[in-house]
Amino acid sequence: MPEPSLSARLLRAAVFAARVHATHRRKGASAEPYVNHVLEVAQILAEHGAPEEAVLAGLLHDTVEDSGDDPEPVTHGHLVAEFGEAVAGLVAEATDDTSLPKETRKALQVRHAAGRSAGAKMLKLADKISNLRAIADSPPPHWDHGRKVEYVGWAGRVAAGLKGASPALDALFDRTYRDVMARLAAEA
Ligand code: ZN
Repeated sequence: MPEPSLSARLLRAAVFAARVHATHRRKGASAEPYVNHVLEVAQILAEHGAPEEAVLAGLLHDTVEDSGDDPEPVTHGHLVAEFGEAVAGLVAEATDDTSLPKETRKALQVRHAAGRSAGAKMLKLADKISNLRAIADSPPPHWDHGRKVEYVGWAGRVAAGLKGASPALDALFDRTYRDVMARLAAEA
């Protein structure tokens, strides 16, 4: 059988992610379907010159972390079998250990950022860009101003370690960070 085309591989990953996230919603007030987030992350990567495996990993990056309570959780092995080692490896690099407390996970993201592979740096930077946009456009309704500022500041500390893999993504992160901080300052 011939190697599937790029569009076939992308759509297979998009459908896989849509099925895993079928019942998931974003935490923001508009409760968007979660798949909107992973599509946005993949779009940011594709539009800023990321390699194909990073775009595919962008679609799949939350499937392991967010299916832990499912009857049949997605495992690293599933992703290797379906999408290959390179894509599954990037997803693994972008997956937090959900057995750890939230504050520990956040501290580890800062500490591990600089040691990530180039593809994982791009993936995590695109993820943070999408999350910052969401904080500005549709923040979780119970988050007060201080919590939003704290989150954006933390994302900036993670991003500092992720820089250097893609100047275009680094610049987009910086623009997004400044824009979101300015909008938060205006609402204070
Ligand atoms: Zn994400």
